[in-house]
Amino acid sequence: MEKEKFDYFIKTESNIWEVVIGLEVHAQVISESKLFSGSSTKFGSKPNTQVSLVDSAFPGMLPVINQYCIEQAVKTGLGLNAKINLLSIFDRKNYFYADLPAGYQISQYKSPIVGEGAVTLDMPYGSKKIGIERLHLEQDAGKSIHDLSPDNTFVDLNRAGVALMEIVSKPDLRSPSEVNSYVKKLRTIMRYLGTCDGNMQEGSLRADVNVSVKKKGEKKFGTRCEIKNVNSIKFMEMAIDSEAKRQVELLETGKTIIQETRLFDTKKNETRSMRSKEEAHDYRYFPDPDLLPLELKQSFIDNIKNKLPELPDQKKERFIKNYKLTPYESNVLVSEFETSKYFEEVIKKADINLAKNWIIVELFAVLNKKNLDIKESPVSPQNLASLINAISSGEISGKIAKKVFEIMVETGDEPTKIIKEKGLKQQSDPKELEKIIIKVLEANSDKVLQYNSGKEKLYGFFVGEIMKASSGSANPKLVNDILKVKLKK
Ligand code: ADP
Ligand code: MG
Repeated sequence: MEKEKFDYFIKTESNIWEVVIGLEVHAQVISESKLFSGSSTKFGSKPNTQVSLVDSAFPGMLPVINQYCIEQAVKTGLGLNAKINLLSIFDRKNYFYADLPAGYQISQYKSPIVGEGAVTLDMPYGSKKIGIERLHLEQDAGKSIHDLSPDNTFVDLNRAGVALMEIVSKPDLRSPSEVNSYVKKLRTIMRYLGTCDGNMQEGSLRADVNVSVKKKGEKKFGTRCEIKNVNSIKFMEMAIDSEAKRQVELLETGKTIIQETRLFDTKKNETRSMRSKEEAHDYRYFPDPDLLPLELKQSFIDNIKNKLPELPDQKKERFIKNYKLTPYESNVLVSEFETSKYFEEVIKKADINLAKNWIIVELFAVLNKKNLDIKESPVSPQNLASLINAISSGEISGKIAKKVFEIMVETGDEPTKIIKEKGLKQQSDPKELEKIIIKVLEANSDKVLQYNSGKEKLYGFFVGEIMKASSGSANPKLVNDILKVKLKK
């Protein structure tokens, strides 16, 4: 497909504007305990029940690094085709907030654990590489709760100290749909790796979205604004669109963009200023004296590399090559690990071409409608495989299969049982079919005459009547064969 159809430009009377976007994605590391303490990271527990003395910053407490979180960050870095740094440093990022008891967040500033990498997006106009600037580890802060009381703010420190990976992209994204695809791709990669569950409702994945605009063709980037903490892909797309339009309007009326941090108001669909852009020196970053520089051995990294699972891009290629899928089909089937697993279960026992279509078209429609995950599918891979086999062997027609599938969705029953109980087996006995066909032709002898004198359109009518007369069970191929012979007479 031509790229122009998907280009995202803001056109005004006098100009065409291009949007430049870079994302800082915060991904919560899958780990039972926090980055520097042994407290649990379980989601949804009672407030302040998962807070150790380290998390609440009691004087004299010392952070101890959680090796598992380091492994997770390295794994993610490898999944992003990125350079893993053998030496990285934890810094204190100082700021005051009620949900940050230490008065600083332990993060990585100049020396992150992961350096440059790249992620490939599959856009309708082809694949596009998005550069990764870095990935660093940092602690999450606690949560301030403002809406429980009119006069008080409550603080829940369960999240304080939980490990986050901040994945910073290069300013390579050019449209809301590329951002959509980028975030989904990151999520898919991390889910395959088991390093972040990507659950946006629970806040496991959220992003700061940097947006600037420039005239189309211009090399130099404009001044960016950073929209903080956007927690859904749809809101990211909306925020970019509305922020880009705001900037264009300012520039076209001769004003300038001030680099600042903004918030997206999802109800009003607009961004508004939160604070002027802070600089690194505002945070007085310095290496945390309680933590030694983190030195990794190459063997530690190699070990993780050797145990990496098959990643989505590799799986996509394998599906194209081994199963002769189109890139689109392959993409759809690998975008969730569970979907690819389901597909491979089905094709162990059933025809690949039928399987891919049944999954992408029929099964996805049902899951969508019922808002179910494929893991909760009422139709198991085994049952879908038997349904497909019933079609392949001619036991039922594709049309009847849809009926059977509907029942499978509602009952979770096996197709063979449904076909038997409901008498849906395809009528494939030529003698029986011939009887039905003769009956139909006799009842419509006037139309047979018209057909024979050249009104060939009537053929479809006969087929329809025969199908009706057999309650839809007639084997269409046999019907065709017999009908043709009968009409010639
Ligand atoms: P900061 O800490 O100041 O937010 P970071 O380096 O963490 O800086 O992140 C900067 C983000 O802004 C990156 O994702 C980068 O791609 C993006 N970015 C940089 N320049 C621009 C620009 N002109 N327009 C849009 N995004 C930009
Ligand atoms: Mg930032």
